[in-house]
Order: sequence, then C-alpha cells, then structure tokens
Amino acid sequence: MTDRYAVFGHPIAHSKSPLIHAAFARQTGQDMTYEAILAPKDGFAGSVAQFIAAGGRGANVTVPFKEQAFALANRRSPRAEHAGAVNTLVFDSCGILGDNTDGAGLVADLSHNLNCAIAGKRVLLLGAGGAARGGIGPLLDQQPAALVIANRTISRAQALAELFGHGITACGFNAANMPFDLVINATAASLAGELPPLSPRVFTADTLAYDMMYGRDTPFLAFARSHGAATADGLGMLVEQAAEAFYLWRGVRPDTAPVIASLRQDRLEGESL
Ligand code: NDP
Repeated sequence: MTDRYAVFGHPIAHSKSPLIHAAFARQTGQDMTYEAILAPKDGFAGSVAQFIAAGGRGANVTVPFKEQAFALANRRSPRAEHAGAVNTLVFDSCGILGDNTDGAGLVADLSHNLNCAIAGKRVLLLGAGGAARGGIGPLLDQQPAALVIANRTISRAQALAELFGHGITACGFNAANMPFDLVINATAASLAGELPPLSPRVFTADTLAYDMMYGRDTPFLAFARSHGAATADGLGMLVEQAAEAFYLWRGVRPDTAPVIASLRQDRLEGESL
C-alpha cells in the first residue's frame, strides 16, 4: 500500500514541501504520497490524529505548530529537545516520535552546497526565535571558533547562551560590530521586508551572509552585498531539512542538488517560492 505523508501548517498553500518530497520520491523510487494539510489554528492535534487514523506514516510541521508538535510527541530526539520545537513527526507502533531537522538542514546547506566549512570560523547568528535555537546545536557540533548570538531582545539571546553553554556570547545588534566569517540571519525581519539594525563592520569580502528566508532577495542580503560579502538565501536549507526528514521516514538519502536547482529555476521563471 502507498505510504502517506503530509505537512501541517496554517497557512499552508504556499508550502514547497509537497513538491520537494514528490521529487525525492520519484528520484528514489519510493511508493508514497505527500500532501499539504491546513490544520485549524486551534485544532493541530486533532488534525494529526485524523491523519494517523487514515494511515499517515509521518509528517512535517511548519508555522505556527512546531511547539505544539513538540508537546504532541511522546518521544523526542536529542536535537528536538535542544531546539525546543519539532518539524518532523514519525508515526509508529510506539506512538509519535518528534524530531527537528532544521538545524541539520542549515549545516548541510552551508557545508555541502555552499562549501562553507564552519569549523574554526567566527559565526554571528542573528535572532533568538525557533529557527535560531534549532541551528545552535548543529552549528556547535561543527566546532566554530566563536558563536555570537545577537538579538533585538537581548534577554532571549542570553537565555539561549545559558541553555547551550560552550562559551556562546549573547548581545544586542549594536554590540556585534567586528568582522565575522559567517553571518546567519535567523530573525523574522526579512519576512516583513525589514533590515535588522546591524553594523556593516560584521561584513568583509571573506564573509558569507546567509538569510534563512528564501524566495526573494532580502534587505539583509542586499545590505551584506553592498558591504562586499558573498550571500546565500535559505532555499538550500529548506530542501536539506526535507531530505533529512525523508531519510528518517524512508531510510534513503535523496540527492538534493537537482531539487534545489529546479526550485531556483522556477523562481527565475517567475513562480513564487
Ligand atoms: P520566530 O518568530 O520564532 O523568531 C523571530 C526572531 O526574529 C526573534 O529573534 C525576533 O526578535 C526577531 N525579529 C523579528 N522581527 C525583527 C526585526 N524587525 N528586526 C530584528 N529582529 C526581528 O521566527 P522563526 O525563528 O520561526 O523564523 C525566523 C526566520 O527563519 C523566518 O524568516 C523564517 O522564514 C526562516 N526559516 C527558514 C527555514 C528554512 O528552511 N529555510 C526554516 C525555519 C525558519 P525578538 O526576540 O526581539 O522578538
């Protein structure tokens, strides 16, 4: 029987996950379907229960349900515990396993697709929300020389630094004013078309500026470019986190490069991502 998977969100119509997983399934010959489910804002758990009853084997979870998915899982991976949020669910005979593949997706995109080794680098992470928190553990695993978390609300950055330890520095945006090798924008500023109040001194010609946001150029990327940095958006992260989820469900690693290339081509041809 064909195995069923889905992504739950609200809204969900914009999601590229069905396209990405359909491409992975074709490429690897897996007998599965993957659909987008609009869960009511106050009905996430009920929607998931219905899907499981209808034979669902696993799911991705996106905004605004990642914390609810964390609570719903009766077992969680260490990286989900670290992230405090779940973006991937596995339904099995023991119940619901919650995992978080966002941080692994970020690191895979940086190291495999963008050839940006993190070991020994000075990394500035902007933001202290869910995406930033999910990235910290996988970034630390790569042993950067330094990891600085800058956030608008400094206390949230400090709370993350305390949670993870390992000599992470927390500060406000104005205190991050020295050069970094890698600057990752994990704030939601780009979603609103805004630029985090960042010193241009964080960028040099050797800096990679990475915005987790994807689908359009952002004020952060334009600002970084205008100060000489190389830039990348989060489309590769989106595909890599999906590949990691696919591997959890199916035990097969898809080749992400052609899927990223095809999504970039769609964007060039004017489709919104
Ligand atoms: P959250 O709402 O959890 O976090 C928002 C963060 O952004 C907070 O640190 C907040 O600061 C900060 N922020 C919001 N607005 C501004 C602003 N105008 N200037 C400066 N800082 C601001 O969001 P997420 O962590 O879930 O998502 C963050 C980004 O990551 C989004 O763009 C999202 O699309 C992207 N993302 C991409 C993924 C991918 O696969 N490529 C996966 C997951 C997320 P404060 O604490 O002060 O409120």
